[in-house]
Amino acid sequence: MGTVTIAAIVSGCGSEPAPQAKPPATADAAAAKQSKAARAAAAAKVKANELGQVPVLMYHRIIEKPATTDDRSPAQFRADLDRLARDGYVPVTAAEFVTGKMDIPAGKHPVVITFDDSSPSQLTLDETGQPKPDTAVAILREAAAKHPGFRPVATFYVTRDMFGKSVKEEQAQVLIWLKDNGFDIGNHTRDHLNLRGMAKSGVQEQIGAIAKEIGALAGIKPVTIALPYGNQPSTKEWAARGKLGAASYDHKGVFLAGYTPASSPFSRSFDPLGIPRIKAMDKKGDCAQFCSTAWLDWLKSNPDMRYTSDGDVTTVAFPKFKNPFLSTTHKPYALPY
Ligand SMILES: [Zn+2]
Repeated sequence: MGTVTIAAIVSGCGSEPAPQAKPPATADAAAAKQSKAARAAAAAKVKANELGQVPVLMYHRIIEKPATTDDRSPAQFRADLDRLARDGYVPVTAAEFVTGKMDIPAGKHPVVITFDDSSPSQLTLDETGQPKPDTAVAILREAAAKHPGFRPVATFYVTRDMFGKSVKEEQAQVLIWLKDNGFDIGNHTRDHLNLRGMAKSGVQEQIGAIAKEIGALAGIKPVTIALPYGNQPSTKEWAARGKLGAASYDHKGVFLAGYTPASSPFSRSFDPLGIPRIKAMDKKGDCAQFCSTAWLDWLKSNPDMRYTSDGDVTTVAFPKFKNPFLSTTHKPYALPY
């Protein structure tokens, strides 16, 4: 999406039509019409569907001996990324996803890779400032080197655990490294408490305090939040926007913990206050149907349900008959074919 679109999305309520360019002169109009037809034909050729679903994968620790079903081993994570690349996925961050800035090539599918709880297994830097081998970040970069076009980006949902660092300067080093290398930092609350049933002041304290710390350490203002245990506060809006003293937070997306692919941010069914994620896990036990392997299989065998890019961030391309699903906000950018 262009800057106009982004402004429209971040204003956020979905009812206000975005401003349109002034009508071009007649010759320009004919050229514009022709170029729109050409763009629609190009979108049709790659079966673009920017109203389709996007898998948002939820990871926790990447450790040699997984202790719970939330953990993945380095070997499993490598295999997960190989599969994503093989299936035509290109990673985008949670911030890019919720603001509709998924700038990936035509015919590719976006995937959002998220990590919760800021554990050292996700990123630990060595004495020269490089990610240690077998950390999530090191493995992501390996995958990008191995698969051309596979972007080494992900979103890290941070709590006070701060990648196992207790010294402020060391916490700042990790956060700034992530920021400088194109990674996205999200809010995961300070103490990882269950926000369900908590008073508004408590919710604001939990979210506001870590936002303030992330801002002070690295000058980062998280665009999204992931709720501990996926539990929403009694008023969903409290997770998105609030104040703590002079500080404030304003999230464009609130992520949950389960159990389906997410709606396209251009679709009417997109709810920025409750975006589902998928646990990264093989097809067994509780994960037979609702974790990543199962959903990636499903998206592969239901390509008409999956988000496919037309390679142009300024348009929202889709097969014409899906038009009723287009959100009002994004009508000016529609490229039906
Ligand atoms: Zn968590």
